[in-house]
Amino acid sequence: MSEAPGGKPLGVFGGTFDPVHNAHLRLAEEALDRLGLAQVRWIPAGQPACRAAPLVSAAQRLEMVRLAIAGNPRFELDSAEVDAAQSSYTVPTLERLRQTAACGAQRPLVLLVGADAFAGLPAWHRWESLLALAHIAVAHRPGFPVDAASLPGALASIYKERYRPDAAALAAAPAGCIVNFAMTQLDISATKVRALLSKGHSTRYLIPDALVTYIHDHHLYLEN
Ligand code: ATP
Repeated sequence: MSEAPGGKPLGVFGGTFDPVHNAHLRLAEEALDRLGLAQVRWIPAGQPACRAAPLVSAAQRLEMVRLAIAGNPRFELDSAEVDAAQSSYTVPTLERLRQTAACGAQRPLVLLVGADAFAGLPAWHRWESLLALAHIAVAHRPGFPVDAASLPGALASIYKERYRPDAAALAAAPAGCIVNFAMTQLDISATKVRALLSKGHSTRYLIPDALVTYIHDHHLYLEN
């Protein structure tokens, strides 16, 4: 496999994580092996720009990600979007990462997104700049096909042009390709987890045990 001069690709996984759940964790874990990533950097959104306000504070969502990924040496937490306490946008986040010593201009960056988030890309701030800064790896998600025919027009053209069938393409350049990967299909969503919690039902085995305890102890996601 040819490798870009900047080193092994670094995964970047952003999300609202309201709360983080086991499908997020499997997505990141499988991406490491399937896409040949050195690490996955988790970046919880401070104030997500394109969706309703999260139900719990940014600090609590950050803490839940910290608990969820604890002990995995291939996962790293990036609190910059939460610390910034303003609307979170992916392009400025990637630009910031490019300024760091761990990344620089040459290291391949791989933005990890689920198929639903990928289809919504044209709503993102400065989305046309994403592929100049990173590759995009699209994880299959139940109910969301990954094919050009089901994408909005502008994104479909870019997908056809930039799609590479082999994840080896990610290591060969710092940015610019789209790949997809068929992660273990888990029909888990934060929406579903919140709905269970609001009814007082169990979320065990959908989220890590440490989060079950944290959510219980902090009285989060209760029906109001
Ligand atoms: P919500 O239900 O509140 O919309 P979510 O479960 O989709 O939340 P997010 O924090 O919005 O979680 O998602 C972060 C990223 O994880 C997105 O790219 C999303 O597509 C991806 N993702 C979330 N759940 C899954 C899943 N079950 N399979 C594949 N990708 C997923």
